[in-house]
Amino acid sequence: MKVLLDEPQLQAGVARMACEISAHYGDQPLTIVGVLTGSVVLLADLIRQLEMPLRVGVLQASSYRGETSRGSMTINSDLLLDVKGRDVLLVDDIFDTGHTLAEVIPLLEQMGATSVKSAVLLRKQGRQEVKIDTQFVGFDIPNEFVVGYGLDYQDHYRNLRYLAALEPADLTDTHTGENA
Ligand code: 5GP
Ligand code: MG
Repeated sequence: MKVLLDEPQLQAGVARMACEISAHYGDQPLTIVGVLTGSVVLLADLIRQLEMPLRVGVLQASSYRGETSRGSMTINSDLLLDVKGRDVLLVDDIFDTGHTLAEVIPLLEQMGATSVKSAVLLRKQGRQEVKIDTQFVGFDIPNEFVVGYGLDYQDHYRNLRYLAALEPADLTDTHTGENA
């Protein structure tokens, strides 16, 4: 594994995002919606740096299977709090093709959110397939498969304190130990 962003760099990036978010919303109440599961580490670090009155909810969006393939997307909003009449900030781990945000943002708008903006820790260069703006970005990264700080490979590595790019030798089955 190759470390792309170490812990101090990640913390500095999150602090910068928090400053930008605070500058934008001021003391306005905010509803933060984290996209499970990849955003949990960012969510925990980010909300503790925000001082406006805020509520936190989560939803689950899944489509990413394995390293490159993309299945159809399922969104589970059973755990989501009421967003009607609220300013919503959607928080996700990574903006890759953009399909996740492109599906979730209209859904929150349909649910009656007053405004929906998005914050992502990472944005992958040259991968965007949908025209969609994300307002708060931690880091632009090269087109590599990354893990750590919430991001997984086969549900592993979310607990790493740093962000690392997987190398071919790392692409073994995390359960059987065989090459994937
Ligand atoms: P999208 O392509 O819809 O923008 O991103 C879909 C999801 O794919 C992200 O929320 C993230 O969970 C996952 N994903 C995209 N790129 C990577 C990556 O490099 N590493 C990991 N672990 N997940 C990724
Ligand atoms: Mg995700």
